[in-house]
Amino acid sequence: MSDNFQIRAQDPDSEARRATLHTRRGPVETPVFMPVGTQAAVKTMTADEVRQTGSSIILANTYHLMLRPGVELISEAGGIHQFMNWNGPILTDSGGFQVFSLSSIRKVRETGVEFRSHHDGRKMELTPESAIDLQTGYQSDIMMPLDELAGFDTSRQAQRAAAERTIRWLDRTVAHFQSVKESTLTPGMLFGIAQGGFDTAFRSEQAKLTASRDVDGFSIGGLSVGETKAELFEMLDASLAGLPVQRPRYLMGVGSPEDLWEAVSRGVDMFDCVHPTRIARRGALFTRDGRVNITAARFRRVFEPFDEQCDCYMCQNFSAAYVHHLFRAGEMLAQRLASIHNLRFMHWITESMRQAISDGDFSRLRDEFLARYTRVDERVTQEQRERWRNSRDQKLRRAPR
Ligand SMILES: [Zn+2]
Repeated sequence: MSDNFQIRAQDPDSEARRATLHTRRGPVETPVFMPVGTQAAVKTMTADEVRQTGSSIILANTYHLMLRPGVELISEAGGIHQFMNWNGPILTDSGGFQVFSLSSIRKVRETGVEFRSHHDGRKMELTPESAIDLQTGYQSDIMMPLDELAGFDTSRQAQRAAAERTIRWLDRTVAHFQSVKESTLTPGMLFGIAQGGFDTAFRSEQAKLTASRDVDGFSIGGLSVGETKAELFEMLDASLAGLPVQRPRYLMGVGSPEDLWEAVSRGVDMFDCVHPTRIARRGALFTRDGRVNITAARFRRVFEPFDEQCDCYMCQNFSAAYVHHLFRAGEMLAQRLASIHNLRFMHWITESMRQAISDGDFSRLRDEFLARYTRVDERVTQEQRERWRNSRDQKLRRAPR
């Protein structure tokens, strides 16, 4: 464990805190939102554009990169930062989540998980040790251990077994990471992932076990997998109860604007989610009043910026009518501009949070934001997620085996 996390201010009325996470590629101010660059690119954007929205750290996916272009090629390119021309810190997942959600053929054994590539059907394996070797090969700054996921719809017994295996795998990961650290001048960080399914007492217990291991921070995993928002926050509270206050806490895969406020109130520091850029590519843009679809007919003649208060590249340079036209015409520029706007919105939120925590004003700002922001109906969100999963599964089914 290293002394890489400094808490600078604590909100008096909630668990929200402002901190600096010192990575080997520079400091990250938290609370922070991390855009997802699945295949070493935040879809449609250059690294420079991502930086200009206010991003300080991004996420890349171990699974996708190990299949294509492969860790050898990324190492040969000088690491992922050099490959994609991003010089800030990069956090990588272990690949486990994608193996469990994308790969139709997989076998979990105590040694690791065997699966077939969804591109060409190649047989591959991920073990706690190889997940660290891959992330080391990419030159990741914050690495995740291989964990086993059990879905929301699996039995309690299966959820417990997966969480227990996650701890055993974490012990192997920590041991292997130690040997990697000894041969590296400035090693990256390793987080532990607290799982525990959907039983509050078991979740707290698993968080405590994770916290007793030699890691630099903690991820809270296995959430936002089909449960309701109320269940998500109940499980988050249970995990947080078992984690030390003075270490960074990262809530994996959660990142709608309203969730950010709720989770930061509870003491979460880091987030990643594909949601802001994924919905942007369909024309759904964030505003302080909620999500708005720029393809709606009412924007046809709006020769003003989409959001007068927004300082993003899209709002500063183009009218809503122009972006509306780009979407209607199927121009690729539409997706890029919309992604820029939504990422900027996420960073505007975390910047406002950090300032408010320093000013002792966080809770008032949170209540103000949540009162004004119209949430998308939970049923609608579930339906959208379902539609997206189906279309992805269809694509995967068409992929060669
Ligand atoms: Zn904007």
